[in-house]
Amino acid sequence: MSDPNSTLGQGEAGDAGDAARSADAAAEPILSVRELEKYYPVQSGILGRQTGAVQAVDGVSFDLERGETLAVVGESGCGKSTMAETLIGLNDPTGGEIRFRGKSVGGNVDKAFRRDVQMVFQDPFATLNERMTVGRIVAEPLIIHGEREDDRAAYVRELLDTVGLSGEDHYEAFPHELSGGQRQRVGIARALALNPSMVVADEPVSALDVSIKAGILQLLEQLQDEFGLTYLLITHDMSVVRQVADRVAVMYLGELVEVGPVEELFADPQHPYTEALLSSVPRVTADPQPDNRIQLPGSPPDPVQPPSGCRFHTRCHLRERLDQDEAVRCVDEDPELRAVDGRELACHFRPDHE
Ligand code: ADP
Ligand code: MG
Repeated sequence: MSDPNSTLGQGEAGDAGDAARSADAAAEPILSVRELEKYYPVQSGILGRQTGAVQAVDGVSFDLERGETLAVVGESGCGKSTMAETLIGLNDPTGGEIRFRGKSVGGNVDKAFRRDVQMVFQDPFATLNERMTVGRIVAEPLIIHGEREDDRAAYVRELLDTVGLSGEDHYEAFPHELSGGQRQRVGIARALALNPSMVVADEPVSALDVSIKAGILQLLEQLQDEFGLTYLLITHDMSVVRQVADRVAVMYLGELVEVGPVEELFADPQHPYTEALLSSVPRVTADPQPDNRIQLPGSPPDPVQPPSGCRFHTRCHLRERLDQDEAVRCVDEDPELRAVDGRELACHFRPDHE
């Protein structure tokens, strides 16, 4: 394989980008999100009046360090995709602030941000244009941004090689000729075309066979090492988290409830929701203890009318064990996400209560 560093990383806007990169080096988080909010209006009646809102993302705050992988986990419908789409500007936030490399990302015309933060989507079957050749699909962002007019084809072939496809064989291929894993590699090549510093991947392997999953995750890790990429990785699959993430953010009904280093969180989950989530991960043990498994009762509440106080209180196994006068706090008071022992936690009764 040719050395991808020879041309990757030298986009036409590369000089300005490189200067910015060294200027705001290491110390500062690459991405800083504060109180991010995305409400979708709910309309009803023949007049289509707004009668409420889906509180899909409701006050999410976190930082991403350069070169790290933060996994966002949580049940289906908790707002992961909305958060990702709002972050990269596919959705307008209804509140909050996004800072990227120290600068506020405002409005929808931040061209540098749009180039620097790219997305890999879940379903490589739904997101590739069937009528375009692979070469054209990967070139698309370059065409949109007017980059690499002179050596575009060669560069795209090189990108295909970089993601484990063949620049020679796959350039003229159509998506239907490729396997699921190959298609996701095309999706990844497309995301890399503009030489981003951050990639948001929304369930990048959940549509793929188990046997193919590992290869794609390996590729993501290898690309991260090679290009110093920062990843925000959305997944509901804890084995994916374990394999690739540095830190994990646990999301429940539009809010983050616990954020911390993967190993610590897996070894000692503090938020009752994290506990429940992890206990449903199949584990390979000699002596499975199904009785210790914390089952989440019911399905998540309606994000149009989330529970008062702590949103998790209607399904919380810890609350059941509290005294009544304590438990009322969970209904009345929304716990803030606060720093506790090297992680962040939003529970009134952890870490202390057993
Ligand atoms: P996840 O990715 O965690 O499964 P989503 O972000 O897709 O969750 O959805 C969060 C909530 O927002 C869900 O209740 C979903 O029904 C709702 N939702 C998502 N997209 C829209 C939309 N475009 N309009 C209205 N509601 C939406
Ligand atoms: Mg989703």
